[in-house]
Amino acid sequence: AVQGAAASGAPAAAGPAPLAPGPHDARIRALLKRMTVEEKLGQLQQLPWTWDTGPGGGETKEIEDAARAGRLGSVLSILGAEATNALQRIAVEESRLGIPLLFGLDVIHGFWTTFPIPLAQAASFDPEVSALDAEVSAREARSNGVHWTFAPMMDVTHEPRWGRIAEGNGEDPYLTAEFAAAKVRGYQGESLRAKDRVAACAKHFVGYGGAEGGRDYNTVDVSESRLRNHYLPPFKAALDAGAATVMASFNTVSGIPAHGNTHTLTQILKREWKFGGVVVSDWTGVQELIPHGFAEDGADAARLTLNAGVDMEMTSTHLVDHGAKLLAQGAISRARLDEAVTRILRLKFTLGLFEKPYVDESEAVDEPSAKARAAARETGARSMVLLKNEDGALPLSTSVGSIAVVGPFADSADLLGTWVIPKAQERFPAGKILDAVRKAAPKAKVTHARGTDPEGEDTGGIAAAVAAAKAAEVTVVVVGEPAAMSGEAAARSDITLPGAQEKLIEAVAATGRPYVVVLVNGRPLVLGDWLAKAPAVLEAWHPGVEAGNAVADVLFGKVNPGGKLPVTFPRSAGQIPVYYNHENTGRPYDPENKYTSKYLDLAHGPRFPFGHGLSYTRFEVGAPRLGADRISAAALRGGRTVEVTVSVRNTGKRAGDEVVQLYVHDLAASLAQPVRRLRGFRRVTLEAGERTTVRFALGAEDLGFWTNSPEGEFLVEPGTIDVYAGASSATEQKRTLRIT
Ligand code: BGC
Repeated sequence: AVQGAAASGAPAAAGPAPLAPGPHDARIRALLKRMTVEEKLGQLQQLPWTWDTGPGGGETKEIEDAARAGRLGSVLSILGAEATNALQRIAVEESRLGIPLLFGLDVIHGFWTTFPIPLAQAASFDPEVSALDAEVSAREARSNGVHWTFAPMMDVTHEPRWGRIAEGNGEDPYLTAEFAAAKVRGYQGESLRAKDRVAACAKHFVGYGGAEGGRDYNTVDVSESRLRNHYLPPFKAALDAGAATVMASFNTVSGIPAHGNTHTLTQILKREWKFGGVVVSDWTGVQELIPHGFAEDGADAARLTLNAGVDMEMTSTHLVDHGAKLLAQGAISRARLDEAVTRILRLKFTLGLFEKPYVDESEAVDEPSAKARAAARETGARSMVLLKNEDGALPLSTSVGSIAVVGPFADSADLLGTWVIPKAQERFPAGKILDAVRKAAPKAKVTHARGTDPEGEDTGGIAAAVAAAKAAEVTVVVVGEPAAMSGEAAARSDITLPGAQEKLIEAVAATGRPYVVVLVNGRPLVLGDWLAKAPAVLEAWHPGVEAGNAVADVLFGKVNPGGKLPVTFPRSAGQIPVYYNHENTGRPYDPENKYTSKYLDLAHGPRFPFGHGLSYTRFEVGAPRLGADRISAAALRGGRTVEVTVSVRNTGKRAGDEVVQLYVHDLAASLAQPVRRLRGFRRVTLEAGERTTVRFALGAEDLGFWTNSPEGEFLVEPGTIDVYAGASSATEQKRTLRIT
């Protein structure tokens, strides 16, 4: 918990609570009186409409008819301002009650201006990066008729095999919570009526990141304490920041599919947290209750999901198809139906849609502005992590005579990452790294050889890359994963560099010439034996539309990298899950003792720990200093905090950024505790020689934990806490705090 920005103990700087019962409820009650059961059920329906099925297309006719008949509440995907207005006009002018439609879309890391993927953003350890993405996205999207984005995704995960790790903020609940809250504030701003803001959607509720084996949609069996300490905090933070909607997740939560889970959706979300917004299903998530083996048929699925707390059905149509009959049978109640409709209408009123259902077509943003591109470039560079840098291999000098830029991603625009608006991908592809290197070092002779494909095993091109490397003063090897290898339904069992890319690196290494490696990927990778030899490795992730420039900025030292890993890099896929905030076993790893927790065939510990990242300068982060070495549990519960200060000094020769990180470990508690838990971080920029002191405050929220009680019990127990500070989760610098 950093003092100031988001002090611990208090909810992350509370934004507006746009969907609390309130100003519009009288109008909503009046509307409800006039609505037929079919019209009410219609509000609960969202149908997909894509860029490709334009007006006149088959699906569009179905959507137009539904809008006209009042059998549709919301539409997924857009066709731009003009077509959106046309469809909206049908709902507003031709339906009996004229209730406007709500247009939602997956604006995940950009609309026209694609920012780095969310996992990369987390690596910046600067939540303002996500706030900026969200602000730019909101302006571009809303002006094109989108009211609602299905973001931010905040599924904490220990699974680098899971493709959707790219969409979230990594393995830590605290880091994810800070980013989720920042993103919600960026999307929603002060008022959802504003023409440059969109409603946010906290997704996926909940536990989706726990999918067994990292295989998408897979089973999640989770204790109540793990649920509450690990998966729920980002959602709570997003709702405290005002998130208007929540999306249910595809997985089961301890045997009960999330779409039919009363405990998570109603008991925790709506009752305990008093969430007043809309719970939307995921794509056919209601239908999927049948193959989950939870619902017998569509009617049963509709009954179970509405009763559990889902308010709106995306894509499948069981609520509109079976709702009236279920109501007549008493299987669902009128009160619950009205509640769901009320939540949806509140959102529409809050967005100002009853007063202003249309967008101004002349104001539709049609391309990334220069400012938006600059933001994408800056955040792209800010998100990069320098994994390794021996003997100052990086930065490269712009006055170097010759550079070879090799590898399948050197001259590639496949650097946007997963979940990009298809038209943005077409119209605003990522800038290529090869082009940017040419621009950054105009005097150098820059050569290129692809070497190998991103995937296939063909090594035929490697000889040309080797020749280029031999002829150049330095070689930049750009390797990674195509965007399609991460994101939804993109789990990998082997997370090494695909195809023959490792062979390419080995071949360049064998030339004995200087080289550096740039990684572009959507997940932590298992970095093979080549890593030990490589002089420098820069993790660039999928950096977005300004990819080329952002990479060149860091390669040539225009930007000094300061990102940190938001997720552990494993040594081997067989070691997964490996994450920093694990519990101890009764036999913690001990190299001297055979009978301890380890693998026979693998060195212990991660390849790179959570929080790791280097700089072109050096920093000294001091041990934590505590404002008090003891505090009572009662005082903590009453809101008191212990101040922790950490000094940090730039001991190198150039300006740079360090991320000061604060961790705690409760040594003995009534519930086994993680060996480290991130509870504060601050990215600081320091000139050469400059020093500063970072202040944190540890409060009840940082030092206590949720128990296994299903009712929600948070304990702050007397005991001993090790407080760690440093430049990564591997820090051993600590002080002891006693809770009496
Ligand atoms: C994804 C959601 C997304 C939805 C709508 C689903 O497949 O799980 O994250 O919002 O599709 O596109």
